[in-house]
Amino acid sequence: MSWKSLDDMDVAGNRVLVRVDINVPVENGHVTDATRIERIVPTVADILAKGGKPMLLAHFGRPKGKVTPEMSLAQILPALEAALGRKVQLLETLEAAEALNADAWEADVLLLENIRFYPGEEANDIAFARRLAALGDVYCNDAFSAAHRAHASTEALARLLPACAGRLMQAELSALEAALSNPERPVGAVVGGAKVSTKIELLENLVNRLDVLVIGGGMANTFLAALGANLGKSLQEPDFFGTAKDIMAQADKAGCRVILPVDGMVATEFAPGADHVVVPLGAGTVLDPDQMVLDAGPASIEAVRLAFEGLKTLIWNGPLGAFEIAPFDTATVAAARAAATQTRDGTLISVAGGGDTVAALNQAGVADDFTYISTAGGAFLEWMEGKTLPGVAALEG
Ligand code: ADP
Ligand code: MG
Repeated sequence: MSWKSLDDMDVAGNRVLVRVDINVPVENGHVTDATRIERIVPTVADILAKGGKPMLLAHFGRPKGKVTPEMSLAQILPALEAALGRKVQLLETLEAAEALNADAWEADVLLLENIRFYPGEEANDIAFARRLAALGDVYCNDAFSAAHRAHASTEALARLLPACAGRLMQAELSALEAALSNPERPVGAVVGGAKVSTKIELLENLVNRLDVLVIGGGMANTFLAALGANLGKSLQEPDFFGTAKDIMAQADKAGCRVILPVDGMVATEFAPGADHVVVPLGAGTVLDPDQMVLDAGPASIEAVRLAFEGLKTLIWNGPLGAFEIAPFDTATVAAARAAATQTRDGTLISVAGGGDTVAALNQAGVADDFTYISTAGGAFLEWMEGKTLPGVAALEG
């Protein structure tokens, strides 16, 4: 934890290059979800309050190093100005930014056009980074969600100027450090979702760091099937039975208790309100060929609740069932509410992340009760896999 925050920087009167993630969904030229834009407001407001001059660096879409008008940040500008309550000036080219006299900025906030219009960005090109560095006095990275990429505006630039984390990055790093680097023990995790194959590195890292691992969702089917269960047409990955067994062996060696479902909600079709039965699950389970496990059952939910009660820290990635369709959201919602209650009571630090996980926690109505919910996607996952994120490493100098 050796990165600096805005509090450590000389901001007054200085030009601050702020890497932000405002890669928001846009339909017909309108921003449909401004969450990412709203989350950078504290950093920009803080820089302005300290007397600094923010110039925002951001990407939008995947223009692959070419000027692509459909991916212009111009379409984000109105939403950005609304969120900041300030005028924002778009600098359409790097040359325009270079020609700008720092004393003559027209707006409070400047925004450089889509940084990925330049091939130097994704190449992490040092000459390109030097051109960016010349535009500012201080570098502030507030885009944790882009920190798993070594790009010029996230990596090389951080090494050329006095560098710090913005408020959002700071909150994210603090939460992730509290969850994984130096957690209050006992520490546990829920890892669920569809497939083992997308989460092997996550599982391998976690079993070596945790006291308890709850495995759920389609992924749990693969673990149960690896132990010998015949789960009909349940989502499962026979190619990863060996991986599942390895992970259980590693957990055993590392002293991490693995909790698999002991019962499941079984149906023959995945449809709203589909007929379903609760079936005990274990190594000897044999389902009909047309049956599938779509959620954990009540005994499993109770076991998860009990496991949570012993924890001081909880990491969550992946739903416990096919939560998009009721009633197969039951286990995910019940477990999410249990974690939320303990967090509200002040006995649990709870950190969650993952696209579907965030959607599921919103659906359970508990998103505000968790200690921290990461919307960083890939960067969150890589952190939980124990990987070094280039954008964070560069801040640590
Ligand atoms: P995240 O995006 O949070 O990392 P994943 O993408 O790994 O989560 O997994 C989410 C998906 O897993 C959801 O679409 C959900 O329907 C699916 N899923 C969970 N449990 C099951 C199950 N038992 N059978 C089929 N799909 C499942
Ligand atoms: Mg997903």
